[in-house]
Amino acid sequence: MLTLKHITKKYKDKTALDDVSLELDCGIYGLLGPNGAGKSTLMNIITGNIKPTGGSVLWDGADIRELGAHFRSVIGYAPQQQGLYNSFSGRRFLSYMAALKGIPKKEVRSEIERVLSYVNMQEAADRAIGGYSGGMKQRILIAQAILGNPKLIVLDEPTAGLDPKERVRVREQIKTLAGNKIILVSTHVVSDIAPIAKEILLIRSGHVIDRDTVESLCLKYGESRDLEEVYMHIFGEEEQYAGR
Ligand code: ADP
Ligand code: MG
Repeated sequence: MLTLKHITKKYKDKTALDDVSLELDCGIYGLLGPNGAGKSTLMNIITGNIKPTGGSVLWDGADIRELGAHFRSVIGYAPQQQGLYNSFSGRRFLSYMAALKGIPKKEVRSEIERVLSYVNMQEAADRAIGGYSGGMKQRILIAQAILGNPKLIVLDEPTAGLDPKERVRVREQIKTLAGNKIILVSTHVVSDIAPIAKEILLIRSGHVIDRDTVESLCLKYGESRDLEEVYMHIFGEEEQYAGR
């Protein structure tokens, strides 16, 4: 169980997150909102990569600041800014990440094979990442995030920059990850997440303005059958502003 208590993040005069409180249990959650809404900031705070200005993040009731290294073995995180090493092969990148995550040495080899086969990247595993397509890069990022079978998986815009076919493939792959864990996926593209999410968290200007099932959100906002319409109803102007 993941709990956020009154999370606020300020950058000088800019408030990126304003008093966000949430509780998430197992399932796939879509963090949906336009550019600049605060998705990446929220994910970076949940994963302990940046410190909030105020508030706390709890994992099973314990503050992540006190969990330290243990928390690192609980989470898998694929950042939006792809910190990929282009000269590394996919396999070398994974073994580097496995070391950072503290996966026991004797398990590393089999764990890498497991995640490679999971994302269907065995054949490309010995090629340099620099030569991968956008979809392959996202898949190796997902593979890295699921090393060690984390209970909390945070994927920041895993479908960004992908063509429509690849988007669907990545989405369906995320769906198969579901189980006894929390999966949080950010996007500003409704169709990337609506078909697989247990709940959608709508985020706007640093506030999580609502969270609910796709069905309930559709009923709540404008009696629409379609979350895309709901999204444009809520965020239309901001999306235009963001230049999409
Ligand atoms: P999203 O991921 O939803 O696009 P972000 O979390 O990246 O949104 O950003 C939320 C807001 O915080 C934006 O207005 C952004 O400009 C601002 N912001 C993010 N990171 C920084 C930073 N390092 N310094 C100053 N402002 C930032
Ligand atoms: Mg972002």
